[in-house]
Amino acid sequence: AFHPAAARTRTTCGYCGVGCTLDVVTQDGDVAAVLPARDGPVNQGHACVKGRFAHGFRTSPERLTRPLLRRGGTLEPVGWDEALGHVARGLRAAIHAGGPDAVAAISSARATNEENYLVQKFMRVVVGTNNVDNCSRLCHSPSAAGLTASFGLSGGTDTFDDVERADCLLVVGANPVEAHPVVGARLLRRVLHGAKLVVADPRAVGLALHADVHLRPRPGTNVALFHGLAHVLLAEGLTDEEFLRARATGLPELTELLADCPPDRVADITGVPVADLVAAARLYGEAGHPAIVHGLGVTEHLHGTDGVRSLANLAILRGAVGTDRGFGVNPLRGQNNVQGASDMGALPDLLPGYGKVADAAVRVRAEEVWGVPVPERPGLRIPDMFAAARAGDLRALWVIGEDVCATDPDANRVVQALDACPLVVCNELFLSETARHADVVLPVASWLEKDGTFVNFDRRFQRVRPAMPPPGETRTDFDIVRTLATTMGVDLSCETPADALAECARLAPVFAGLSHDRLDREGAVPWPCRAPDQPGEAKLYLERFATPDGRAHLAAAPYLPPGEQPDDGYPLLLVTGRRWAHYNSGSMTRRGGNLALDPVDFLDLHPDDAARYELRDGEHVTVESRHGQARLIVRVSEQTAPGQVFCSFHFPASGVNHLTSDHADTVTSCPEYKVTAVRVAAP
Ligand code: SF4
Repeated sequence: AFHPAAARTRTTCGYCGVGCTLDVVTQDGDVAAVLPARDGPVNQGHACVKGRFAHGFRTSPERLTRPLLRRGGTLEPVGWDEALGHVARGLRAAIHAGGPDAVAAISSARATNEENYLVQKFMRVVVGTNNVDNCSRLCHSPSAAGLTASFGLSGGTDTFDDVERADCLLVVGANPVEAHPVVGARLLRRVLHGAKLVVADPRAVGLALHADVHLRPRPGTNVALFHGLAHVLLAEGLTDEEFLRARATGLPELTELLADCPPDRVADITGVPVADLVAAARLYGEAGHPAIVHGLGVTEHLHGTDGVRSLANLAILRGAVGTDRGFGVNPLRGQNNVQGASDMGALPDLLPGYGKVADAAVRVRAEEVWGVPVPERPGLRIPDMFAAARAGDLRALWVIGEDVCATDPDANRVVQALDACPLVVCNELFLSETARHADVVLPVASWLEKDGTFVNFDRRFQRVRPAMPPPGETRTDFDIVRTLATTMGVDLSCETPADALAECARLAPVFAGLSHDRLDREGAVPWPCRAPDQPGEAKLYLERFATPDGRAHLAAAPYLPPGEQPDDGYPLLLVTGRRWAHYNSGSMTRRGGNLALDPVDFLDLHPDDAARYELRDGEHVTVESRHGQARLIVRVSEQTAPGQVFCSFHFPASGVNHLTSDHADTVTSCPEYKVTAVRVAAP
């Protein structure tokens, strides 16, 4: 029981993309407890250690509460007028010197939809450039590109509610037990109720312990693995011929490609035994209601989009997408609002609702709402922003809620880019690695202090409500963007977050039925939602696919090797990922009780490799790649396959992203975080 004066606020978790509904109990100006809501549509009364307990960051003494301005090499506290005046003058100077395209912004997948909407509007309306991107570039941009090419829309194909009917789960390149624990628990519950489980992951992730078949492909060989599974489906007649005839295209080309992908050849490439490959294909192929759930182990590769499309082939071959017979293909989103940041048009080539900036009709519609012309040329992606800064072409960069120096690959070159850029502005909770390189640091409200909406991994818009006001002089990103626009002489017209979503609904047909009032009345609503009286499409494509010809498109993408291979100099392959108690750069979860749960980062190493390099648990080692080095503590573990090592990116002080390369997906520029050749050197 809580004190009678305690207040409860219903909101949505600000950590991962599952989107758990939470009741935040506040008392005496602080969080007394965070309770999972029993009527939460996805979490159903559950929450994980991040959502429930990682709120201590809010009152951390390290929390920024005043703007900082660099003077004489030092960041000094200043007032808001001075900070925003400096930013406004700097942006004008950058535009004067290099044109609007000399300015860029990295919007935040942690921020609300309304804040992302306003950031991209600021860049297009106030600055006059499409140079805006968000961290989906670094995680699920291949899912968006691959699913759009295969089915027509960028989001996952189904509602997670449907998983309760699945009789075979194919979980690929994901570790939901640690990274998305509420989803991990629901998947496991389904398995305990009889569903078959195939896990495809190089590591023995938590769900693998319960798998009927665990496929452990070499990192970077996903496309070959998926072709091998498809080969078996075709060879054993486990396809839905009527569906393929009526609703798909591309079968002849794929059939020709798969002729070269027999299981023994796929086994040579992937290291997956033929018997396991065949068993997995039969489980998926013979299920009445198969489901695919995938994570960043599919996307963060040199050929990540090919991986998504080749995975989607399996659902198409089985007629398990756009029908009642399957659960389609569903990406598990990492950050709480990475889906929403993209939905809102914080992308260099797409406006809110996924209209292309290159499409004149789409630009005209935006002009009608915004009252100014929309730039036609697609803008820079995040890696291109850094390259432009290093080349001297980018003169101002606004980084919002993203610690790019800690989480982007090849971190040494990211630092070079920030140091070369004449104006770097950073919206942050703490003095992050990135903020240390900024010229202006703007202190912002956290998810517990904001009003707006997030979109979770199965496309549900859900309300975010402030449980308490932001501390000190901190402001919401929404307020900062509006005020900066006003400082630069432009009224962005959206006074409140509700106004911003209403304007977005006027601009983007797929969101036309959404509003704060409706979400307050009804709870979660999925997109597409084209009218206020429509419920939203939880399950997509039941009538037709959203591709131009209305059909699902099979992809015949050949397997191509990853960007790096181990050799004598760098004999191990590093895979990075998440651990259960922490979140991304750890800036929030390391400031509070979760640090005690998981206090340091480890380099997980198979016992065979530990013996080969004469390493023991707890030893400090230096890890080196062709790009940089990091310092980690050895943990001997059979979770990692021989020849591979694993660590998280939650502890920037370790320098893990100094190791990763700038190899990136050839379609979307998503970094290849999952394959880096390394060696373990003397401490
Ligand atoms: Fe928050 Fe994700 Fe944990 Fe749910 S599973 S409480 S959304 S971090």
